[in-house]
Amino acid sequence: MQQTALALCREGKRIVFVPTMGFLHEGHASLLREGRKRGDILVLSIFVNPIQFGPAEDLDRYPRNLEGDCAIALECGTDIVYTPIAADMYPPGFQTSIRVRDLALPLCGASRPGHFDGVATVVTKLFNIVQPDVALLGNKDFQQLAIIRRMVADLSQPVEIVGMPIVREGDGLAMSSRNAYLSPGERASALCLSRAIRLVRERYAAGEQDANILLSAAKELILAEPAATIDYLEMRDAATLETVSVVSDTTLLALAVKIGTTRLIDNTLLGEESEVAL
Ligand code: AMP
Repeated sequence: MQQTALALCREGKRIVFVPTMGFLHEGHASLLREGRKRGDILVLSIFVNPIQFGPAEDLDRYPRNLEGDCAIALECGTDIVYTPIAADMYPPGFQTSIRVRDLALPLCGASRPGHFDGVATVVTKLFNIVQPDVALLGNKDFQQLAIIRRMVADLSQPVEIVGMPIVREGDGLAMSSRNAYLSPGERASALCLSRAIRLVRERYAAGEQDANILLSAAKELILAEPAATIDYLEMRDAATLETVSVVSDTTLLALAVKIGTTRLIDNTLLGEESEVAL
């Protein structure tokens, strides 16, 4: 892949990159379709990166469907599907790690120790291998996007990072490969995440700016769902990810909720138009 990419660069081709863990859905497809417009060669990577999973997490059962993924990739005009294996990415003796410090501390970084080190490290490797001019990432993983933007700036990595809106199901559920874990009953319960977001957006639009009041309302809505347990539910400044007590257009509402054993994340930037009617 690296030799192919370097040859393409020498020919003056503009490489566009969409890194994923596969089991593609319409969220990934939206990144590929936008990517198709932004360069000459569109590269999709599919790699379930072991070093970003904790010991008790779902690495072994993460859903996979290479054939289905390739069909979606083809339909979206992808030129290259790159599917490295863990033994090639992390051969014996591998010992280097990239850490973005402060941005990785709260939210998913607090619940998943080491997760973002694994993400930053693999994304750097993938950037070095794929040599992209531009990479597209989803706002669905808002903290990940913030961390990668920071890393690219801090390390002078020559890649333009493009953030893309969250793609949702018709009823509001943010698309995720992990939605495949949900039973039909859990699928219904999972709507509490997007409903909580909608409730907060409505209260904010009506003038409420007290973070505690907004979060209490969201908490009450989520906890009315017996299958749901809250991992985190927070108001953070979208740029620094620091907590805020008075919310504004630049505030991010971020939440992680377990539905049964499936951990789902969602978020919204209060000042941004909603991606779809939630
Ligand atoms: P993943 O395969 O879950 O690692 O996701 C790969 C990329 O797709 C990441 O940049 C995600 O943020 C993005 N992505 C995942 N789900 C969505 C979604 N529902 N809408 C937009 N982007 C998404």
